Amino acid sequence: MSAIQIAVEGCGHGTLNAIYDSIARTCKISRLPLVDLLIIGGDFQAVRNLRDLNVMSCPPKYRVLGDFHEYYSGVRKAPMLTVFVGGNHEASSHLWELLYGGWVAPNIYYLGAASVMNFRGLRIGGLSGIYNGRDYARLRDERLPYFPSEIKSIYHVRQYDVFKLYQINEPVDVMISHDWPSGIEHHGDLNELLRRKSFFRSDIEKGELGSPPARSLLNKLKPRYWFSAHLHVKFAALVDHGNKVTNFLALDKCLPHRQFLQLLTIPVTKSKPGLSYDPEWLAITRVLNPYLHKHPSALNSDAFKEAIGPMIAEERRWVEENIVAKGKLDVPENFQITAPIHEGSLTAREDRLPESYVNTQTTAFCELLEIEDGTRFAPPGSEGKEEKYRSFVANGGGSYPRGGRGGGGRGGGGRGGRGMRGGGGGRGRR
Ligand code: 5GP
Ligand code: MN
Repeated sequence: MSAIQIAVEGCGHGTLNAIYDSIARTCKISRLPLVDLLIIGGDFQAVRNLRDLNVMSCPPKYRVLGDFHEYYSGVRKAPMLTVFVGGNHEASSHLWELLYGGWVAPNIYYLGAASVMNFRGLRIGGLSGIYNGRDYARLRDERLPYFPSEIKSIYHVRQYDVFKLYQINEPVDVMISHDWPSGIEHHGDLNELLRRKSFFRSDIEKGELGSPPARSLLNKLKPRYWFSAHLHVKFAALVDHGNKVTNFLALDKCLPHRQFLQLLTIPVTKSKPGLSYDPEWLAITRVLNPYLHKHPSALNSDAFKEAIGPMIAEERRWVEENIVAKGKLDVPENFQITAPIHEGSLTAREDRLPESYVNTQTTAFCELLEIEDGTRFAPPGSEGKEEKYRSFVANGGGSYPRGGRGGGGRGGGGRGGRGMRGGGGGRGRR
C-alpha cells in the first residue's frame, strides 16, 4: 500500500500561479513530497481569452483575464494533475464544450457537469455549479450567444446531473461540490462559523444555506471526504452516517492570510499514475444520456425508478466488454486548443461573446461510449437565436463593462446591466 499527497483548494478565481506557488512552498516548508493531485472547488475561471470574460457572470471589477490563459496557450504548465468542478463564476461556454468532463489545459481536468473519475484507486466525484430552485428542473438549453439571463442560469445545478450521481452504488472516496451541502454547518463549530460570517445567520436559521441536492447526495453516497468552496471561509465538519463517516471541509479563496489550502495524505491501492474513467459512471452515463434533453419528470416515474437498476447493470456489462477489457479506461491526453489563445493587451476592450466550438475531447468521449453528443443538440427555440441576439445588442444590450487597470468599464452601468442585477452584492442565492 502506498500513499498519495493531495492538495485541496477552495475557489480558484483565476489565481493558478499563486495556488501552485503556495503548494510548492508549503510542501518545502513541511518537508512533504510534492503533491500528486490538486483539487479546486470551483470558480476556477478557465478564461481562454477576452471574449470568454463576456460569458462569465461576475461584477465588472472582477472581470479580468487571470492566470489561466497561459496554461491554455502552453506558456505555463500545471506542475501537478489538477481537477476541478465548476462554480458560479466560470468561462461558461468553455465548460459547456466539456459537459462530460475534459482537459481545459494540459494536466488540468474539468470534471464536467457531474462525474466520477479514478485516480490511483481513489474514486473522486464532482458536481458543478450552484443550487437555485428556479432552474433545478430546467433543461440545459443555454446556447451561444447567451442572453444575460443565460449567463446566470447556465451555472445552476440541474436535477438531471444530481439524478445521475444518485445512481452510484459503489463507494466514493472524495466528492467535490462548489456550494456546501445544506445543513452541513450543524456538523461542525457553528458558533465559530457565525463569529466569522455573522451574515450567514438568517440563512442558517431558515435552513437556506447551501445546496439541498448536494446534501441528499452526501447522505446517499456517504463519501469519506467531501470538499466545497464558495462561501469563502474554512469550515470543517464530520457527518456520522451510523456506519460510515464523511469528513467535510470547505476552504477559502486564494488570498494572503486566508485559509485556502489543505494537504492530505491518503493511502491508495494502485500505483498507476493518471486519471481514468470509472466503469460504473460510464454505465450510468450510457443509460441516462438519452434523457439529457428531456424533462426530468421522465426520470421520476415509479416505472423508471424500477427499471433503472437493471438498465445500469446491462450497460455495465457493455462497459466491461467494450471499454474495460479493451484497455480504454485511461483518460487520453487529448487536450486541444479550441478558442483562440489570448494575444496582446490584457485589458483591451472586447464586447463580442465567444464563438461556439465543438470540442474534439467531447466527440472522442461520446464515440468511446457510443452515445450522442449532448453538446451538439439544438434545443427548441435556439433557431434564429443569433438574429434575436443581434437585435438585443442593437437595442443597447450585451455590452460587458470590464474591471482591472484601464479596463474600459465603469462597472454595473446601464448597458449590459440587466444580467448583473442582484448579482453584484457578493451574497445571496445566485
Ligand atoms: P462568489 O465568490 O461565488 O461570488 O460568492 C461567494 C460569497 O457570497 C461568499 O463570500 C458568501 O459570503 C456569499 N454567499 C454565497 N452564497 C450565499 C448564501 O447562500 N448565503 C449567504 N448568506 N451568503 C452567500
Ligand atoms: Mn462561488
